[in-house]
Amino acid sequence: MKRLIRWILNAFPRSVLQRAASWGVPLLGLFYIGRGRECPVCGARRRRFLPYGYVVSREDALCPNCLALERHRLLWLWLLWLRWLWWLWLWWKRWLSRTMRRF
Ligand SMILES: [Zn+2]
Repeated sequence: MKRLIRWILNAFPRSVLQRAASWGVPLLGLFYIGRGRECPVCGARRRRFLPYGYVVSREDALCPNCLALERHRLLWLWLLWLRWLWWLWLWWKRWLSRTMRRF
């Protein structure tokens, strides 16, 4: 599968790949049905993610459901972490203003 995907990536122009990705990648994802990996972006569970890479193919790179790569999943987790920090900061600010009103 790794060689097939790398061959497809190098054989076809990017515009063709982008048009075919919406139905082709989920079709390839049928071979990876399972519960080993969970995509934080879309919540899809697969045995593994699809390999991806033009020159060197990386294992566990492409989510077959939402087409997210490693960097997209990492950015998503980082944004979730920032959102959690934002809520923590708002809670702390509210708690501090209520506490300071007493004095
Ligand atoms: Zn996904």
